[in-house]
Amino acid sequence: MPVEPDCIVVGGGLAGLACARELACRGRSVRLLEAAAASGGRVATDTVDGFRIDRGFQVYLDAYPEGRRQLDLDALKLGRFEPGALVAEGRRLRRVTDPWRRPLAAVRSLVDGTVGLGDALRVARLRGELLGRMEAGGIDPDRPVAADERTTRAALEARGFSTRFIARFFEPFFGGVFLERGLDTAETVFEFTFAMFALGSACLPAGGMAAIPRQLASGLPADVVEVGTPVAAVEPVATVERGAVRLADGQRRACRAVVVATDRRAAERLLPPGSLPATDAGVTRGDKGARMVAFAAERSPIGGPTLLVSADRAGPIDNLTVPSDVVAGYAPAGAALIYASVRPDWAGDDAAAAADVLRQARGWFGSHVEQWRPLATLRIGHALPDESPAARRWRPTGPRLAPGLFICGDHVTSGSINGALVGGHRAAAAVDAELASG
Ligand SMILES: Cc1cc2nc3c(=O)[nH]c(=O)nc-3n(C[C@H](O)[C@H](O)[C@H](O)COP(=O)(O)OP(=O)(O)OC[C@H]3O[C@@H](n4cnc5c(N)ncnc54)[C@H](O)[C@@H]3O)c2cc1C
Repeated sequence: MPVEPDCIVVGGGLAGLACARELACRGRSVRLLEAAAASGGRVATDTVDGFRIDRGFQVYLDAYPEGRRQLDLDALKLGRFEPGALVAEGRRLRRVTDPWRRPLAAVRSLVDGTVGLGDALRVARLRGELLGRMEAGGIDPDRPVAADERTTRAALEARGFSTRFIARFFEPFFGGVFLERGLDTAETVFEFTFAMFALGSACLPAGGMAAIPRQLASGLPADVVEVGTPVAAVEPVATVERGAVRLADGQRRACRAVVVATDRRAAERLLPPGSLPATDAGVTRGDKGARMVAFAAERSPIGGPTLLVSADRAGPIDNLTVPSDVVAGYAPAGAALIYASVRPDWAGDDAAAAADVLRQARGWFGSHVEQWRPLATLRIGHALPDESPAARRWRPTGPRLAPGLFICGDHVTSGSINGALVGGHRAAAAVDAELASG
């Protein structure tokens, strides 16, 4: 590795790792500087008493196109959730499923009134249309957006979905995915995510979600990643002949190109003023947070790899899963691991969250809940970028900000594992093209 590499990537989340790996594949020398003690960014897993606790409940969707290109999915040993979900309403749990993959269960949902015929037909039309557009390459949440992009809620209402079905299914299911119950996320992001759920499965890797960045990092030459190396500033390109970053300890590192692969807030602090599009005064871009409580239990309350989402506004639970039902390895033998994600609009503090979750879960599972043992409560301040249509209109239009200065990360493309991988790949291709031309 030369002292002065072709490229320095700042930030070792999925976007930064994907970028560094693509640059290394293209024969470029690259250094990745990560502030934290490990790479992986928001995709991380801790082990507590032999249980794998992901830092916030997240799933890998095996239909993600960029994931298929960049990851060795077999090596991740993915366990798969059943399609659809159990929807909790009051004390009742109703199953809403994908009629193409579970036709009998879908018929039962129609018969018991969980899904009305009109909404079932609208889901069928939506599914057919989105899969057709997906196949034709017509849904890309990572490209610049149309000025008239709508919110998910507006799009669902325009398609004629009943208020009842939106509240009973789309709000708890996609509200849990987007980490906001208002369904203010842009229509394109919803359409892409819906297509991913229809085309594949929600999955967990046997080694925990952290196995995904671990696999990307293992594809890099040994001396590329430097962890525990916070960058304090990226030097303005106009005032230096080559790119450079200033580390928190005062060191200066020179290179030919810099890629800022951090989250948006860090990018705003690091980049020279004026590098990013300024938002309109009326546009706020608040990041979305997440909370999760993990419990150990002697057995699973659900007894299968099914996602439970809550349409019950009386309690804190957004969704509840049993990762150890999905893939072995999340819990020690003979035990079950339960994740309860807390609704983003739940006001209760963290100390009360576990007790509030147990109270609500008791309504669904009865005395089973009494033996659940809290393992960890996690609060993630920045989980997803704001993806409302207004916020998305102020993303950079591509990875190149200035000569020798590039950006990637889910806030530039879309807030998902796929979006982060796409951004990293696009930034690497842009750096490579510029280095080749210079
Ligand atoms: C609770 C939660 C649930 C989610 N659910 C899903 C899901 O179900 N499916 C899905 O596809 N996606 C999900 N996501 C989103 C997905 O995890 C992210 O979109 C993706 O991981 C973002 O990767 P990134 O590389 O863009 O950013 P990050 O992971 O944030 O990486 C940025 C990196 O930059 C580093 N950094 C910051 N500042 C500096 C600095 N000054 N110097 C050096 N390094 C720095 C950070 O430490 C970090 O490692 C979820 C995320 C969370 C948190």
